[in-house]
Amino acid sequence: MPELPEVETIRRGLERVLIGQRIRQIKVRETRFRQPVSVFKLQKWVAGQQVEALHRRAKYLLCELKNHSHLVIHLGMSGRLLYCKKTLPLQKHDHIRFIFANDHELRFCDPRRFGMVDAVPPGQLADYVHFQNLGPEPLSPDFTAAYLAGRAQKLSRPIKNFLMDAAIVVGVGNIYASESLFRAGINPQKPSGKLRHPEWAKLARAIRQTLKHSIATGGTTLNDFHNSDGGMGYFQQHLMVYDRAGEPCLVCKNKIRRIVQAGRSSFYCPRCQKNMLRKK
Ligand SMILES: [Zn+2]
Repeated sequence: MPELPEVETIRRGLERVLIGQRIRQIKVRETRFRQPVSVFKLQKWVAGQQVEALHRRAKYLLCELKNHSHLVIHLGMSGRLLYCKKTLPLQKHDHIRFIFANDHELRFCDPRRFGMVDAVPPGQLADYVHFQNLGPEPLSPDFTAAYLAGRAQKLSRPIKNFLMDAAIVVGVGNIYASESLFRAGINPQKPSGKLRHPEWAKLARAIRQTLKHSIATGGTTLNDFHNSDGGMGYFQQHLMVYDRAGEPCLVCKNKIRRIVQAGRSSFYCPRCQKNMLRKK
């Protein structure tokens, strides 16, 4: 599933090729996604428009258009974007095509159809239904230790689950939550309300570093963007704990442990992430 760093990598890739281009035509071959695609809205607000800027909110890509409307794309579980020549033969799951005035087009393909494509009319982005109740961006100045501490007051909820709640902070998926907690030396089961300020500071820094590192790694592989896989990141090779159950910790050689929290696997080093779990 594309996570925040992958989506940011894709945003940067799209920025390089789409800005200034006019979307001459939109062809919708499938409308049944996480929410049905409104062909009417796409034709009314997006078709014929020039791309002014590429933004990202959480894992949504936002294509700002000259008429101040936005094309919103979410990749869901399996969605991909392909910027290619118009002459490239269509694949089975090339569901929506944005055809430009040059000889290229952008294809949205999503075999499992958990993704989303939508148009937001001018001036309505702030009230957009999918952006309500979203916490701050982890790479924005709003994401601080003080903010986290404030939201966690008296919560007994484990810190890992707290971090993965988009109402607290967006874009910290399962991999990044485990990796950041390892970097910060905090046990994933620790009740959120029990963290103290130095721990919050370490954790906020660890989250930013983990995401930035991943974006930087994805960025280096962006050459593939034009013709292949939509610029997915290659963060996997740098993982310290995620998916390494039973393998030695890269810091202390202790065995990495896997537990299940809120239905998701968590990975941690019982030695490096032990000291923070105090009984009281
Ligand atoms: Zn360790």
